[in-house]
Amino acid sequence: MIIVLKPNCTVEQLKHFTDGLTHDYNVKVNTWVGTQSTVLGLIGDTSVIDIDYIAAQDFVESVKRVQEPYKKANRKFHPDDTVIELPGGQRIGGGTLSIIAGPCSVETEEQICEVADRVKAAGAQFLRGGAFKPRTSPYAFQGLKAEGIELLREARKKTGLPIVTEIMSAAHLPLFEDVDIIQVGARNMQNFELLKELGKIRKPILLKRGLSSTIEELLMSAEYIMAGGNEQVILCERGIRTYETYTRNTLDISAVPILKRLSHLPVVVDPSHASGIAWLVEPLAMAAVAAGADGLIIEVHNNPAKALSDGAQSLTPDQFDRVAKRVFQAASLLHAEG
Ligand code: PEP
Ligand code: MN
Repeated sequence: MIIVLKPNCTVEQLKHFTDGLTHDYNVKVNTWVGTQSTVLGLIGDTSVIDIDYIAAQDFVESVKRVQEPYKKANRKFHPDDTVIELPGGQRIGGGTLSIIAGPCSVETEEQICEVADRVKAAGAQFLRGGAFKPRTSPYAFQGLKAEGIELLREARKKTGLPIVTEIMSAAHLPLFEDVDIIQVGARNMQNFELLKELGKIRKPILLKRGLSSTIEELLMSAEYIMAGGNEQVILCERGIRTYETYTRNTLDISAVPILKRLSHLPVVVDPSHASGIAWLVEPLAMAAVAAGADGLIIEVHNNPAKALSDGAQSLTPDQFDRVAKRVFQAASLLHAEG
């Protein structure tokens, strides 16, 4: 961290400030006194220093971080890729393409079991399905809640596919004990109290990027979970809000290689929520694979026209067959090319 002091900073203020930094944060402070201003270089772990507090001092001209504020999610301190491995052997990260597929919402036993069978046959290794749904309108279908999780467990019993479902409140955690991967939706990416609770458990968390969040904010949210001791975080790029209206969101494809460079955590892409349009799922999924994504999360419904949520972006099982074939082919080609 570099701090530039104003010319009016007195010798006493400077000594008091640098002593405080050394004492409070255990950092080494290098001081360069110039004719116009004094510059401080802080060496050590500056991630715990509140940059706003420093900037608010009336003798501070400016302050700049030269090191990322996230530590546990940072590839610098963990060069090897993190691979999430479930007890059943299914993996996310580490060079294979993982697919999480299933309906936006769990609706009926018949629906979830039929979709689970079909996505499994097409090669998906994980089943998704929302039981608690974050809907924009309070009048829209809110999900089957606990019953939805029961139906997911039923589908897992029949297919062996691990289940991925979204949590909206820490108060619901007891219902998620038997869920394999807990999803934090875009709208809750900065629900810090929820993230802290998820840091206390030992279960993989699929963390989706907020609608208007930066890459650094996504990594800081991952850091919240990891700081609590739960290091099994999967990052998800699901499109961000831009001025474009053709698509539901804009897939930030560059986030994939950037996240992979900045962090060791696996990165998956959600082409369904990124586009909102079923026919766009295939090209966006292909782009995600080409950009280096470790996985995809794709919405599939046995009857999209009748879906209780997100029917317009849901693939039929037949359409999903084709997309799965193409992305696995692309992934093996990329893998073969190294
Ligand atoms: C979902 O996956 O069903 C969902 C609501 O996604 P997001 O949080 O990305 O909008
Ligand atoms: Mn959805």
